[in-house]
Amino acid sequence: MFHLSKTHSIQYYESSFLSGCDFLTHAFCTRLGGISEEDYDSLNISFREGDLESRVLQNWNRLAMAFAVPLDNFLTLNQVHGDDIFVIKPYGDYLSADKTLDYDAMVTPRQNLAICIKTADCVPVLMVDRAQKIIAAVHAGWKSTAAGISAKVIRLLFERYNSDPQDLLIAIGPSIGPCCFEVDEEAAESFRAQEDCELFLSPGEKKKKWMVDLPEANRRQLINCGIHEDNIDLANLCTSCRQDLFFSHRGSGGITGRQLNFIMLKGEAPCRVMTIGDDYPRIQ
Ligand SMILES: [Zn+2]
Repeated sequence: MFHLSKTHSIQYYESSFLSGCDFLTHAFCTRLGGISEEDYDSLNISFREGDLESRVLQNWNRLAMAFAVPLDNFLTLNQVHGDDIFVIKPYGDYLSADKTLDYDAMVTPRQNLAICIKTADCVPVLMVDRAQKIIAAVHAGWKSTAAGISAKVIRLLFERYNSDPQDLLIAIGPSIGPCCFEVDEEAAESFRAQEDCELFLSPGEKKKKWMVDLPEANRRQLINCGIHEDNIDLANLCTSCRQDLFFSHRGSGGITGRQLNFIMLKGEAPCRVMTIGDDYPRIQ
């Protein structure tokens, strides 16, 4: 079950499956609670869509405050609509300044790192191995979904971490729904190799057009990997129908913001920085 929550000005959805894990922080944010205006009204987190940088930064600051996660602990990708997965070790360096992170999924056992997916219609999928405390975040647009990205992440969890399917909880967040996602014959064809494609691909009203149910396509990938459907939570919220709540690339005609989806393993409290006037005794 997904439910709407509010912290400070930020309104976001939570999956009860993930919020039931006390070692996690996660959110599927709406567009509500930021300071951006017009096409980006209001909680736009993308610096690349034409919004003013100062406003986007203020939105990030609001998110950091609301979720009590330091700004530097949010990690975003240079999402490229592919199917490559960025695996982050539990400790040590993971970034180099000269490399862009051209990935559409992240997997990590690292604590205090909020792995983020930016969306405006694409499907955000957040996962946890609740036994081993490993998290994953997936950006499943139609190309990545057709490439089987959700299945690929599950296979990586099985092969690299020996995850047990029963321990995996998965939340499929708000995205464009089957009501609004029409594609042409070429895009439809890219899904036909997938198992059970008739369950998420149907003829559109117009000739040579097809309707794709992207959340269901991702759900089928998970089920076909051996995940029980009781372990998969589905938002059933269409970003294009609900532009009062979400940014929608299709619904807006192309110029719009991006909403944040993230998951984080809570860690030990970081070292406390002593400041003047602090109640705690100063270390001599
Ligand atoms: Zn819709």
